[in-house]
Amino acid sequence: MLQLYIPLNFLGFVYREIKHSLADMEKMFDLLKLQPEIKDKASAETLATQTASVAFTNVDFHYDSKRPILDKIEFAIPAGHTVAVVGTSGAGKSTLARLLYRFYDVTNGEIQVNGKDIRSLSQESLRKHIGIVPQDTVLFNDSIYYNIAYGRPDATESEVIEAAKAAHIHEFVLSLPDGYQTTVGERGLKLSGGEKQRVAIARTILKNPPILILDEATSALDTRTEQAIQQELRQITTNRTTLIIAHRLSTIIHADEILVMDHGKIIERGNHQQLLSSQGVYARMWALQQENKNTDLS
Ligand code: ATP
Repeated sequence: MLQLYIPLNFLGFVYREIKHSLADMEKMFDLLKLQPEIKDKASAETLATQTASVAFTNVDFHYDSKRPILDKIEFAIPAGHTVAVVGTSGAGKSTLARLLYRFYDVTNGEIQVNGKDIRSLSQESLRKHIGIVPQDTVLFNDSIYYNIAYGRPDATESEVIEAAKAAHIHEFVLSLPDGYQTTVGERGLKLSGGEKQRVAIARTILKNPPILILDEATSALDTRTEQAIQQELRQITTNRTTLIIAHRLSTIIHADEILVMDHGKIIERGNHQQLLSSQGVYARMWALQQENKNTDLS
């Protein structure tokens, strides 16, 4: 009994931990194959598409019924477009991403992909269409090759190398003691935040999903790495339907629509220029950032 209890308890702990952060939930989900709360319908359809639109309609959500988290959230991301979400800490930004990935189901309203309620789709097929570049990429204690190929385990070696090149990590990998066979992770070579993020980008390039969720790191990278990573991220968002959870406004000035959230509500929306002209919360956040380029606006 005790033997059974400990692992279950441990898995429960891990599950709660990954549900709490957005950190690598894509990987953890696969790893643990744990989906205790969300069940596929018997009639669940398989999503199979190269391009995808996303729509949140009148979405309310709470983790705990005593505490509403999202209140009537409405927005749409036409296929290939980018919507960015900014706002105070705890406003509900990452929750939007968790709902789209179907970690939880909405309390009211619906989320659609290509016009289909995601509750009518199989979770596996939905998640195959979504790539996540998390704040903090968790690496396996395995070779860097394995860590990149994880994005699509059946990829050929040349595809893995192409993805590494596109994520600008190939040269770095070649400089490691055993090249692509170098062990990384907790018990191997530790990678910097920027290097880990590039591994996540390479994985996503390999996975080639029509929908992307980018969860911008709150911890600042040095300016050069930051700029390089932003450029790589911009490349992978081209022609993909993208939801960016942003902490720095400079990363999202090109977004088709920016949603400003506060306490679970969208309080302002528009593109960068429109939001600056309306001189509201976003314009104040922008002015603050211009005053101090390093200010973290999360
Ligand atoms: P940040 O910018 O700090 O990452 P956020 O806007 O992404 O914040 P969320 O992570 O979406 O905020 O959280 C919204 C609210 O929901 C917070 O008050 C948070 O404490 C709460 N919350 C998040 N996950 C859970 C959970 N698993 N159970 C209960 N409450 C949760």
